[in-house]
Amino acid sequence: MSTATLTVDLDAILANWRALNAMTRSETGAVVKADAYGLGAARVGRTLAKAGVRSFFVAAAEEGAALRQTLGPGPTIYIFSGHMPGDTDMIGDLDLVPLINSLEQMIRQIEALPGHPFGVQLDTGMNRLGMEPAEWAALREIALGQDPLLVMSHLACADAPDHPMNAQQLNAFLELTEGITAPRSLANTGGVLMGADYHFDLTRPGIGLYGGQPYAEAQPVAAIEIPVIQCRSIEPGESVGYGNAFTTDTPRRIATISAGYADGILRAMGPKAFVWAGDEPCALAGRISMDMMGVDITHLPKDPKTLDLLGPHQTIDVLAEHASTIGYEILTSLGNRYKRRYIGG
Ligand SMILES: *Cc1c(COP(=O)(O)O)cnc(C)c1O
Repeated sequence: MSTATLTVDLDAILANWRALNAMTRSETGAVVKADAYGLGAARVGRTLAKAGVRSFFVAAAEEGAALRQTLGPGPTIYIFSGHMPGDTDMIGDLDLVPLINSLEQMIRQIEALPGHPFGVQLDTGMNRLGMEPAEWAALREIALGQDPLLVMSHLACADAPDHPMNAQQLNAFLELTEGITAPRSLANTGGVLMGADYHFDLTRPGIGLYGGQPYAEAQPVAAIEIPVIQCRSIEPGESVGYGNAFTTDTPRRIATISAGYADGILRAMGPKAFVWAGDEPCALAGRISMDMMGVDITHLPKDPKTLDLLGPHQTIDVLAEHASTIGYEILTSLGNRYKRRYIGG
């Protein structure tokens, strides 16, 4: 078998959730949008629900519908994109809770599903999703009259705790929600780490559950092991891969391993990333191909059977830095070709 193995440590996800939960007096939810950041919303969701997580968040109603079918009745499933045209049956039949983002969505919700639970998303300055302050002022009485399950907003700069935007958004949120009795939520992972002022009634960590920054103490969750397909020795003057990007003036031993940019191993990380033979780092040789990459294994005592891309020596954030991106993008880019192995849970 040549496919690479992506191992997801469900116990590490649980440990991360418990550690984030222990930082607050609030309820701790779980964000499992985008297939739990690429790691598998069904397995991750079931594991967290079994451990007592009661509130889940997804981006789209379709994701919520799939999650409901996995989890069964009970947990609350919130939809960040709210109530879009075409979502009504899913929201109604599968008991999903749209986070209403606008007057238009509010009307759709009340007309199509009167009495059905909903939440409200407010914009406190990110200008991405949520009602604007003026819109909220007009709708506040109507919305609050229907007992929303949650009133929430989202932080634009929570990964930079010293950024003045955080306090600004906190103040805006306090002002917009003054005097309401509905539960409130503001914090993603970064917000949890910023302390009690940001916690309110329910927190919404995502990346911290999956082992990524800004939660520096998170246990790593994902590991990737890639089979070696072939090894060869090359002579001075020869080259490896597309564009002859790797050339050598000394004899080299090169392994070809079976994962590439179609598996989320972004081409941009090629010059900086390593793969590991146990504790031994091996540089990539030449450009990352769609399904393969070359690795310089000259210094290894024998040809390896597999090499590790993600593991104890190279986390998602190290890889992200090599590609000038963030851990979130590394995880959600991994794609569906891996053989997935779940441990623990
Ligand atoms: C993605 C998302 C989260 C989770 O954010 P992390 O930084 O991954 O913890 C929380 N709230 C909203 C609105 C989101 O879009």
